[in-house]
This record gives sequence, C-alpha cells and structure tokens, in this order.
Amino acid sequence: MKKTVMVDMDEVITEGGFLHLINEFAGTNYTKDDVKGYYMQDLISDKDAFFKYYITKNQYDYGILIPDVVEVLNILKDYYDIYICSSYIIKEIPKECGILLLYKHNYLCEKLPFIPVNNYAFVNNKSIINCDIKIDDKIDNLVNADIKILFTSYHNKDLDDEFLKENGIIRANNWLEVKNILLKELDNESNSTKK
Ligand SMILES: [Mg+2]
Repeated sequence: MKKTVMVDMDEVITEGGFLHLINEFAGTNYTKDDVKGYYMQDLISDKDAFFKYYITKNQYDYGILIPDVVEVLNILKDYYDIYICSSYIIKEIPKECGILLLYKHNYLCEKLPFIPVNNYAFVNNKSIINCDIKIDDKIDNLVNADIKILFTSYHNKDLDDEFLKENGIIRANNWLEVKNILLKELDNESNSTKK
C-alpha cells in the first residue's frame, strides 16, 4: 500500500499572492524579509480596510508556483498517495473566507491536474489529518506524522537544526530536497522489507 503524504498549499505549492495584495493595497514594496513572524497582515496598520480590499481579489491570481513543485509531485504521485491539505480561514475574517475554498480548489485543479480532486482537504486544524508524511511550512501542522518535513519559508528559516532535530523534523529548502527525501524513503522501505 502506498504511504500517504499531506502537502500544504500556501508557501509550499504557491507563494507571493498575499504579499502582492498587501503591497497593492498599501502602495508599498515589502518583501518576505520585511515580515516579522508568521502573519503578513501584521505589516498593515488598518487591517479592516485591507481585508475589505483583499476579499474582493483572488490572491492566487497574483502568486507564483514554487519552483519544481509540479514536476516533483508528478513523480511522487506514482509512489505515494498525495493529499493537498490547506487551511482557508483567515483569523481576522473567518466568516468571509468561503470564497477562498473556490479559489484554492480552482487553482489546484488548474496547476496540479494529476492530483485527484478527491484528495483535497480544506481544514484549519491539520492535526486531525492522519498521514504518514506531512510537508508544511508551519511547525504546528506537522503533528501526527511519522515523517515531518518543514518546508523552508520566510517565517521558519531561522529555526535552528538542533531544535528541529529534537522535534523529529527534517528541513527541506526546496522541492528537489523533498524529492530526495521521499525517494530515499522508498529505498529504506524496500531494504527493510528485504531483510
Ligand atoms: Mg503554509
């Protein structure tokens, strides 16, 4: 039986759209390096006005695919059952976020057509998802997995190796590293079943 892999969407499959809208709204040129902490909206002082603007736009129209994600997932899907698991709730506007389900769904259908639509899971609390392997940029989302892969992002890049090791987390800086980790895992498995 294939092992299951949970893949996060924002900052793992795609990035840039949310920050683009912040800059468009505020007339700024912020980059990811300007973000302190996890929440990009903390760059904005008038969050109410920003989210009124934000919700009229589709952030996925302005994002980019993370390099190699399509090619690598297209390879890995032959060896693993891939699930895309994404939260769609923004804490400041939880009740207005239904439209994000549509945007995320459409983006995934278009960009990753080889992943079955039935394998999308839109949920805020990812700890309820049971997968063998989890790939996410947010540490809290890696619980309940045998292999926890932290995808490097602006808000986690300074977490040191010692901390990650103590928590059983492997860092992947890009999708080629994810590919190496998961293809090596297949080797490990076939070696252990031969013994
Ligand atoms: Mg994410």
